Amino acid sequence: MRILLAEDEPVLADQIRSVMKSEGRVVDVAPNGIEAQFLAETEPYDVIILDIGLPERDGITVLKHLRATGVDTPVIILTARNDWSDRVDGLDAGADDYLTKPFHMPELSARVRAMIRRKAGQTNPVFHKDDVSFDSRNNQVTVSGIPKNLTAQEVAVLSYLFHNSGRLVSRTELSEHIYQFDGDRDSNTIAVFVNRLRKKLGNDLIETVRGRGYVIKAAA
Ligand code: CA
Repeated sequence: MRILLAEDEPVLADQIRSVMKSEGRVVDVAPNGIEAQFLAETEPYDVIILDIGLPERDGITVLKHLRATGVDTPVIILTARNDWSDRVDGLDAGADDYLTKPFHMPELSARVRAMIRRKAGQTNPVFHKDDVSFDSRNNQVTVSGIPKNLTAQEVAVLSYLFHNSGRLVSRTELSEHIYQFDGDRDSNTIAVFVNRLRKKLGNDLIETVRGRGYVIKAAA
C-alpha cells in the first residue's frame, strides 16, 4: 500500500514515514501544499495523510481541490489540538478521518489500516482464502495455521491483492502500489514476487490471467 504524507515538519514526517515503512507501506512525502496536490492528482495512493497547516497551500484548500477534481483517495487530516474548526472544515471538505497533534503513532497506524480496509469493503482485519490467512494488523501470514516468513515486498504484493480480492490487478497497478515515487519500478519483478508467494503459500491462492494480471478470488 502506498501513502502520500503531506507534512512540513521534517522530524514528524520522518517518524511517520519510518513507522509506515516498518508496517510494509511505501510513503511519498510532500513538504508543502502545492507538491501534495500535484502528487495526489497524478499518483495512485491508497491513503493520504494531510497536515492542515502546510506552507504554500493549506491542507483544506488542497483537499477541496482534490475532491472537486474527482480524487477520491481516503484522506486523514492532521490538525492542531485546539483548532476544532479545522476539523469541521476538513471533514466538510471531504476528509474521511482526522487526528489531532500530538498523537501516538499506533493510533495513526490503526486509522490508516482501518481506512484501507474500509476502502476495500472489508470489516474483518484478517483475510482468508482457503487455508491461507493474512492478518492486516501485523502482516502475519499462515497456511493451515502455520506461520510463514515473507519478505516486505512479498507482503506488499499479498496485502494489495487481498485488499482487492475478486478484482483483476495488473502488474503495472501492483507496481504503482508497492513502490514509491522515485522507486526503481520494474513490473517484471512482480512476477518474481508472485512466484515466490506461490512457493510459500501454495499455487491456488493467486491466479494468473495471462497477459492481464493477477487475482485472488473472493472467498466463497
Ligand atoms: Ca504543519
